[in-house]
Amino acid sequence: MLLVLIKASAAHRLEIELYVILRVYRGSINKLKTMRDTWPLLKTTDFPNVSRASLEVLQVNLGYLCNQSCLHCHVAAGPTRKELMQQENIKHIIEVLRKPTVHTLDLTGGAPEMNPMFRDLVSAARQLDTTVIDRCNLTILTEPGFEDTAEFLAANKVQIVASLPCYIEDNVDGQRGKGVYQKSMQALKQLNQLGYGKAGSELTLTLVYNPTGPYLPPPQDKLEQDYKQFLAQKYDIEFNQLFTITNMPILLKNSVIKWPISAHQITAMIGSLR
Ligand code: SF4
Repeated sequence: MLLVLIKASAAHRLEIELYVILRVYRGSINKLKTMRDTWPLLKTTDFPNVSRASLEVLQVNLGYLCNQSCLHCHVAAGPTRKELMQQENIKHIIEVLRKPTVHTLDLTGGAPEMNPMFRDLVSAARQLDTTVIDRCNLTILTEPGFEDTAEFLAANKVQIVASLPCYIEDNVDGQRGKGVYQKSMQALKQLNQLGYGKAGSELTLTLVYNPTGPYLPPPQDKLEQDYKQFLAQKYDIEFNQLFTITNMPILLKNSVIKWPISAHQITAMIGSLR
């Protein structure tokens, strides 16, 4: 092809280049055609309408920097990401928190604790009597330079919502990286020692389950009991409650997880969301 292009006249070269582009484009379209079209399934659903209410909980992503690189991460966070919310926008957030309807600040990332402005923002929010939730990956509490983060969170009465996608070590390490499970256990013990997750304590510790395959979570109440029993017996760890969420790497660029989902599975998933 290169030889043909070199020998061709300018007009002919343009014609050849357009032909090549068209072939590539058609190839992409053909690949797209092999994907299952899910739109007709959604159009015919009787899923209830979603309506907008007033702003009460302000969720803020403080950046994509993270000490982990989980396979399923939908923002592809990791230790080399540079995107971090800057001071100017942090100031805007504090202004929004002054609105009377906003009662909760929900911080996520990346690892939100790695934003250099994290502690300033938390302190400012708490001074406004705003409830603060830290979506914590647990392992950050064990990282060098972050060892006093748990004490800071406890001192500011920050609620912790922590990822633990399973109570089985292999499942956690498979999704979140080798060694993450044991570091998570270490962090949970540290949080318990500070009063998190203990009966009668105002320091709440919520764990979050996330499916490790193409299926929806099992019933939350039953799974919470399984988590509580296993973690108490094996590690003497306590927590308040379990949330089950569905955080799947659907359409994630460069995802190494390939989950073939049938029309039947999609219909079952939509049905179970009601
Ligand atoms: S800990 Fe959370 S933010 Fe960090 S890579 Fe894993 S899923 Fe992404």
